[in-house]
Amino acid sequence: MRIILLGPPGSGKGTQAQLLVQRYGIVQLSTGEMLRAAVAAGTPVGLKAKEIMASGALVPDEVVVGIISDRIDQPDAKNGFILDGFPRTVPQAEALDELLKRKHLKLDAVIELRVNESALLNRVETRVAQMRERGEEVRLDDTPEVLTKRLANYRNQTEPLIHYYSERRKLSTIDGMMAIDEVTRAIHRQLLALGALEPKTHARSAAKAAPAKKARASKTATRKAAKKATKTARKPAKSAKKAVKSAVRGSKKTAKKAGKKALTKTVKKAAKKAAKKTAKKAVKKGAKKAAKKVTKKRAKR
Ligand code: AMP
Repeated sequence: MRIILLGPPGSGKGTQAQLLVQRYGIVQLSTGEMLRAAVAAGTPVGLKAKEIMASGALVPDEVVVGIISDRIDQPDAKNGFILDGFPRTVPQAEALDELLKRKHLKLDAVIELRVNESALLNRVETRVAQMRERGEEVRLDDTPEVLTKRLANYRNQTEPLIHYYSERRKLSTIDGMMAIDEVTRAIHRQLLALGALEPKTHARSAAKAAPAKKARASKTATRKAAKKATKTARKPAKSAKKAVKSAVRGSKKTAKKAGKKALTKTVKKAAKKAAKKTAKKAVKKGAKKAAKKVTKKRAKR
């Protein structure tokens, strides 16, 4: 699976990418992280990028395209990857299309995390506070001033990608203002809907889907039970007959017992009614017969 996470700084791309990495066993390719590592290692790329990054501007396209192209070729990216922070401009997106084509790889989805700009500053402030708490080094570009510049860059240079990918029918937009796990679930659902998940990668979701399977099974069971109930419902006629016979024999109690025994719960009511009716009739008939007998006897006398 190969996906792109798109969103302004502070939208949660990094957090979601890490969660997706754990879930699907693919790698996160974050150009920001790679550039920071290059800066820390003092490589030629790092030396080039250092000042640019500190100011909140974008590193030249050819630099990031080069590092992404090399990274995709590494063995751990064979299973798939999440691009986080790349592409950031339309020329980068075009270069990515080109290099994926060359490598015979397909892009499955572009997930845009949509957030309120007003919440972004807060989020970045929280991130800085948490990093300080953990004793981690705080990013040089996580200051309100630089963030404003990064946001302006996003609007001007990265937002056009939303149109770029929606035209190519690759874009899925998700509400990035939801809680972290809700966003992860929404992304998962989207990837499932797009058919981007291979059976192995969504084993967990299959397990989660078990209740749905159960529900389907219980539906079938209900249908079977209903069929059975209909069959049993046809039986009251027999039991009613039995009840009637007993009633004719004059024993109302026996009639009730016989009827009751043969009836299932579902049809008890109906059968009772039927039995009562028929029993009444039978009793009447029986009474008439008896009356006739009596009259005959009397007449004989
Ligand atoms: P990020 O960690 O994604 O917020 O990136 C931090 C900084 O790295 C950005 O402000 C840019 O200066 C640089 N950067 C990261 N990715 C790119 C990219 N795709 N194109 C240009 N510059 C980038």
